[in-house]
Amino acid sequence: KNYTRQEIIDSAAEHDVRFLRLMFTDIEGIVKNVEVPISQLTKVLDNKMMFDGSSIDGFVRIEESDMQLRPDFATWLVFPWEMEQGKVARLICDIYNPDGTPFAGDPRSNLKRVLKEMEKMGFTDFNLGPEPEFFLFKLDKNGQPSEYLNDHGGYFDLAPTDLGENCRRDIVLQLEEMGFEIEASHHENAPGQHEIDWKYANAVEACDNIQTFKLVVKTIARKHGLHATFMPKPLTGECGSGMHFNMSLFNENGNAFYDEQDKIGLSETAYRFMAGILKHAKAYTAVCNPVVNSYKRLIPGYEAPVYIAWSAKNRSPLVRIPSSRGLSTRIELRSVDPSANPYLALAVLIKSGLDGIEHHRENPEPINHNIFEMSRKERDEKGVLDLPSTLHNALKYLEEDEIVQSGLGSHIYNSFLSVKKREWAEYSQEVSVWEKDRYFKIL
Ligand code: ADP
Ligand code: GLU
Ligand code: MG
Ligand code: MG
Repeated sequence: KNYTRQEIIDSAAEHDVRFLRLMFTDIEGIVKNVEVPISQLTKVLDNKMMFDGSSIDGFVRIEESDMQLRPDFATWLVFPWEMEQGKVARLICDIYNPDGTPFAGDPRSNLKRVLKEMEKMGFTDFNLGPEPEFFLFKLDKNGQPSEYLNDHGGYFDLAPTDLGENCRRDIVLQLEEMGFEIEASHHENAPGQHEIDWKYANAVEACDNIQTFKLVVKTIARKHGLHATFMPKPLTGECGSGMHFNMSLFNENGNAFYDEQDKIGLSETAYRFMAGILKHAKAYTAVCNPVVNSYKRLIPGYEAPVYIAWSAKNRSPLVRIPSSRGLSTRIELRSVDPSANPYLALAVLIKSGLDGIEHHRENPEPINHNIFEMSRKERDEKGVLDLPSTLHNALKYLEEDEIVQSGLGSHIYNSFLSVKKREWAEYSQEVSVWEKDRYFKIL
């Protein structure tokens, strides 16, 4: 809903809102909050809130640190949970330079920039339906996250009430109260692992929803004595957590991916978009799977993709075409994980897909049998490439792909690359527990 200034002021009074959180997302995908007392509301609504951008990693240099927070009125939300006194509301903000231009290092503004390119190509909307997975671990008696799962107490240790299921139900109720239309919520494959899916929305709104979702999941889990983690692979030998992206392009006539004449109901636009998604996969993996741990998930045997291919028949390749058609015609990208910055991930994916459309890229043949049962030779014959196997490799592909880079813009690209290279360097210099266990005694 697009609230007016007055509607927001009235709603704040009606719900006894005492604090206002101004939210935005940094390059690494972390939600940042500037919290102000409600007395500052009109100042905020008039774009008069400044903040020191240099205090945030990867944002700006000291000399240009006075940034403006411009609230998006459509994101006005009063958090349903009670505080000791009154309630807390939030507004999601875009970041502007002191001169009133959008700040190039703001992931949300950057996504809007890419969406304008999409509009120039004749499309009206890009829709995203994410499927985030997460784990619930117990908090210890000091309130710190522990390594203990709540629904995996060993064979004889079945808890009389499943803490996890109760917590998940509570999360769903709170989300519904905040206006999420929940479509599914279930236990996932691994112990302690859950998934909650809600209705797709426009690109920016869908990314806002992901960030809000993570905040709600963590907040409610804590109230249940649990720690929620979106780490892609918290447990060795169990499935990791993905965040499949269901994506579709709309134009004035509706879903531009649907064509009932085609033998599987996909339009030319859908095939070309998919061709772009497959072509740029190696490079955008660095953005969609941005942490060292992401690559511990992208291995055979755990329902996560490893090979760059598509299918309408099975879930083993990178891209799956779910069976619904008409308005729900979509492509599902299965590599994305919840450690990704959703605004950046979507910007590079849209850019990759549009590149496929713009350059009439040829989509490869589908791979309709289980890709994990094919030999290296069979995959080579069909031209099936591997996703990068480490963050290090993914960054190398990102450095070679100008289309994906342009989806980030040079400011974000440069900050992202340097932050991630540092992360890899730190990781690769660390002598791990695994190495000590493996080598210390025998060598
Ligand atoms: P899966 O079969 O992989 O488990 P789900 O049915 O759980 O997939 O997830 C479907 C997701 O796709 C939901 O978030 C849903 O809202 C979304 N979705 C449905 N239609 C579209 C569309 N046209 N564009 C983008 N997402 C869509
Ligand atoms: N957890 C799996 C992954 O890592 C996905 C399971 C599913 O298909 O929902 O992507
Ligand atoms: Mg799942
Ligand atoms: Mg899925």
